[in-house]
Amino acid sequence: MDQDTTTRAVLTAEQRETLEALAGEIRVRRPVVAFTGAGISTESGIPDYRGTNGLWTRTTPPTFRDFLRDPEVRVAHWRRRRERYPAMLRVEPNAGHLALVRLQRAGLLSTIITQNIDGLHQRAGSDPESVIELHGSVHQIRCLDCRRLFPAAEFPLPEGDAVPACPVCGGIVKEATIAFGESLVPDDLRRALEIARGSELMLVIGSSLRVNPAAKVPLVAAQRGAALAIINHEPTPLDPLATFRVRASAGAALTYIADLLIG
Ligand code: NAD
Ligand code: ZN
Repeated sequence: MDQDTTTRAVLTAEQRETLEALAGEIRVRRPVVAFTGAGISTESGIPDYRGTNGLWTRTTPPTFRDFLRDPEVRVAHWRRRRERYPAMLRVEPNAGHLALVRLQRAGLLSTIITQNIDGLHQRAGSDPESVIELHGSVHQIRCLDCRRLFPAAEFPLPEGDAVPACPVCGGIVKEATIAFGESLVPDDLRRALEIARGSELMLVIGSSLRVNPAAKVPLVAAQRGAALAIINHEPTPLDPLATFRVRASAGAALTYIADLLIG
């Protein structure tokens, strides 16, 4: 089966009809913005938040306070990162990420606001300037004292129980993802909300919309008059506000849309 036949096979006639109507709106509305969650990356093999055996959810994650207060928590953080990060480097983007890149290159989609920390939108080819990572990235390290960000590649994984320090100020460093109890980077949230307020159509893909304040982004878009298109396996709390609801896989749905619009 070629790609087109595969995509058609997994979408019902009703889903295709909804996606055709949605493609019509993508053609005429500007700007179109995407808001993505863990569900867009499950087809790359990264379990979503609810996964019982998730890469990042196998143990109860420590809170940000624990990390700051307890040196043992910092040792465990770096040990876990040493065990898991190499696998994250091998994960490939999937059809969903690639379809969004096609839409961006065709001028049909502007910003991608993501809750994901996996960097797959950029790996797929989205311009890093066009991606806002609300929950940070596993591919960066942040100093919690001077707030500097370092690319992970410049930060070798430590041996044994060693815990690295900021090479500039000697401060506490951590994977630049938002821990439980840690605030989002204010500038990222501010930019995301501003883009949401100015959008005419928001594609909401693979998110349970249960994590706040990130879930405020599509809510604010809808309150400001943007049409919402929710592509997700399960119902979400914002379904009643959505113009389009597609209960389908992100990869198949987005590929179908990109094929309709770009060919
Ligand atoms: P979530 O796990 O709460 O919800 C994911 C949603 O996507 C679910 O409703 C699920 O039914 C749906 N879904 C799963 N696979 C799908 C597919 N192929 N097509 C369509 N829908 C699909 O995810 P969330 O709302 O992003 O919140 C989870 C939090 O955990 C976020 O803060 C995120 O930072 C973090 N997280 C990130 C990753 C990642 O970076 N890939 C993975 C797990 C968790
Ligand atoms: Zn520092």
